[in-house]
Amino acid sequence: MAYITLNKQHFFNNLDIIAQRSKGKDKIALVLKDNAYGHGLREMAAMAQEYGISRAVVRSYVEAKEIEEFFDYILVLADTPQEKSAKICYTINDLDSISKFPKKTKVELKVNTGMNRNGIEMDELREAFFLIQKQELELEAVFTHHSCADEDQSVFEQQNKNFAQVKKEVTALAEAFGMKRLRFHSANSAALFQTDDFTEDMVRVGIAAYGCLELSGNVDAEALQPVLSLYAKRNSTRHLDKGVCIGYGASYTTSRECQVGNYDFGYGDGFLRACSNRYETPEGILLLGRISMDNSSFLSVAEELLIFNDARVVARAAGSISYEILTALKPYLKRVILE
Ligand SMILES: *Cc1c(COP(=O)(O)O)cnc(C)c1O
Repeated sequence: MAYITLNKQHFFNNLDIIAQRSKGKDKIALVLKDNAYGHGLREMAAMAQEYGISRAVVRSYVEAKEIEEFFDYILVLADTPQEKSAKICYTINDLDSISKFPKKTKVELKVNTGMNRNGIEMDELREAFFLIQKQELELEAVFTHHSCADEDQSVFEQQNKNFAQVKKEVTALAEAFGMKRLRFHSANSAALFQTDDFTEDMVRVGIAAYGCLELSGNVDAEALQPVLSLYAKRNSTRHLDKGVCIGYGASYTTSRECQVGNYDFGYGDGFLRACSNRYETPEGILLLGRISMDNSSFLSVAEELLIFNDARVVARAAGSISYEILTALKPYLKRVILE
């Protein structure tokens, strides 16, 4: 069976760099949604705890429950509260949902500053505060999310300006409503690495911790190291003559006589089919033909093959992003931690 290795030293190296930029590991909230970007939820949570990270961000209540023992504070990005918990905090994504939260639920308020996906509008802040107080919710923080932290600088800066305005209004509103001091956060990985003097209360960091942030020319980003590698095992080998086709659709024809190995990793396990006929492993071994559900053929007869150790390289072959390559990896693949 194909399996995944997780390099703990690389992970800790990445967290060192992140902690330096965020000015303390207590500012880090590790984003563990989608099975920790395919790395393995519990495996990454345990390593994060060992490093000294006390906050996590997930998508759902089920994910939060699974890692509750490892953290002091878990932010759920999009789910309805299932139970009251001292550790789990839910996100308010629009005004209508506020009346559905059970009283005393811990919440964070998401504000739309330009991504136009989730979050209340900036001119709905007062209304939101009114509804939160009416529903007797415990507001912990106000946050926003960037659409272009790794792309268009003008959009990134406009969102930063908008969020500065939100902070001002929220501070005044919290005082007017007799609430405690609220925390603020806006940065994902790219935003943290684009900001020279980080001053917020928390950073929600995902892809940088996994070592696959792409920000060319950024020295700190380039020092990050990918945590995950994937290995596959050989199912069979065969000797092929020149001019013979391999796999579904007969889309590859051998240009010479060769030995071909068939490995136990296919799109059913999370190997994007878009890589068919256009991927080369880190050792320079060519993928031949189409990726099948449970198989792929390589110009190799090694018993075990390193398929990738940097999801960004696979992403380029697939015309995708490392996030998709990583989250596609099925949870049942074995995760082995390299100390
Ligand atoms: C996924 C996500 C993040 C993490 O983004 P990275 O680019 O992986 O650092 C942060 N905040 C929110 C709201 C997210 O959904």
